[in-house]
Amino acid sequence: MKFLNKSLLEVRNDIVSKKIKAVDVVQESLSRINTLDKELNSFVALNDKALEQAEAVDKKIQAGENQGPLAGIPIAVKDMFCTKDLRTTACSNILKNFVPPYSATVVKRLEAAGAIIVGKTNCDEFAMGSSNENSAFGVVKNPWDRARVAGGSSGGSASAVAARLAFGSMGTDTGGSIRQPASLCGIYGIKPTYGRVSRYGIIAYASSLDQAGPFAGSTKEASEILKVIAGYDEKDSTSSAEAVPDWTQNISTDMSKMTIGIPKEYFGDDLNPEIKKIAMNAIEILKSKGAKTKEISLPHTKFAIPVYYLVATSEASSNLARYDGVRYGVRIPSSDINDMYAKTRGQGFGTEVKKRIMLGTFALSSGYYDAYYKKASQVRHIILKDFAKVFSEVDAIVCPVTTSTAFKIGEKIKDTISMYYNDIFTTSVNLAGLPGMSVPGGLASNGLPVGVQIIAPHFKEQTIFNISQTLEDNIEKKVPHGI
Ligand code: GLN
Repeated sequence: MKFLNKSLLEVRNDIVSKKIKAVDVVQESLSRINTLDKELNSFVALNDKALEQAEAVDKKIQAGENQGPLAGIPIAVKDMFCTKDLRTTACSNILKNFVPPYSATVVKRLEAAGAIIVGKTNCDEFAMGSSNENSAFGVVKNPWDRARVAGGSSGGSASAVAARLAFGSMGTDTGGSIRQPASLCGIYGIKPTYGRVSRYGIIAYASSLDQAGPFAGSTKEASEILKVIAGYDEKDSTSSAEAVPDWTQNISTDMSKMTIGIPKEYFGDDLNPEIKKIAMNAIEILKSKGAKTKEISLPHTKFAIPVYYLVATSEASSNLARYDGVRYGVRIPSSDINDMYAKTRGQGFGTEVKKRIMLGTFALSSGYYDAYYKKASQVRHIILKDFAKVFSEVDAIVCPVTTSTAFKIGEKIKDTISMYYNDIFTTSVNLAGLPGMSVPGGLASNGLPVGVQIIAPHFKEQTIFNISQTLEDNIEKKVPHGI
């Protein structure tokens, strides 16, 4: 590895100062994908124009034209983002032939910043899952141990960065899908505040929870990519007009004015002792750098999973109604239109997606709406109020991301409840629209990485990056064997 073992900030500067060529950097990324990804399965489509686009970046640099913050940098994009002329499937059979006529705002902004999209990454079908086992393209393998999952739903994006196939990647996080795979693959992944990043052109799962964010190999690379994609977009009415700060430039590791909240519900007796040890170690590091700590309570945490699975499935049942064999993707023909709908949806969607559409349709149906969807929305508001109260006393929360290290492929596939409860520490953050990040906290005794979660008030991503950098400076960096 000549380039991909370095930071994207360094490589970008070397490209812009003509020390190296974008085309060589992109070539290295493509060669690594061609060899290593045969086994990992993190990509489901490659951009055959990537080298051409890198050459165009080099030409611009030669001509002295102004270059963007990601000039010539290979980036991978989850298959939930529409990419013009590049197949986009949400890893579902129902969209297996879909080539979008336009790109998501996130993709456009990455390209405008000079990034080269090398390909589309594997994920759970319609981003529904925690292990990437629900993909029409098969499971993604964890670069740390190929018998284990990379996490989900953005498993391919996490695996690609952990294996250094690209400098960064894009994920979406509805209930943990950036933070959980980042934790399981030992890299950095941030879900920004709801509204920070435009959802335009991202295939919708649960619109009031979905947010896009980056995976990267360090704090500053993550903040740099987020800066490129964040900001108001007139095409998404839920995107925020809040100014986008220069997080990377403003990073401060002065922890002396920081109070960290430790939620007692996240550190219960049933917490895996190794996960606990790594989270507590991070808290000790922050304390040794001057931070104060405070035990806090988020008393409604126990309702987060049931509330999440009612809200998410209800919104999904409505969002996925558009896949009917008429406007998008695959159609199973029949002389009767109702039969055509039934066959297309019956054969096009996978088991987990169908299960969720049925659950969501039930929760929204008349007679049950008040008891399920409406009740869940009310409890969601109470969860938000728990956080608001806590954030009047502390600047950030530090806690676990997941309940375990990466599990074996197949281990939880039949145990839906255990799979769903994997998200116990991440879903509340989406329900409350808060920013949350997973930062590598060290290795467990089985040699697998464990992330630490940092949660901050709305639009306080700077606080998250400051804490992340402090941890990064004080925790030894580890990479998967053989990468
Ligand atoms: N694992 C959760 C689910 O299956 C979260 C997925 C996500 O964030 N997209 O819904």
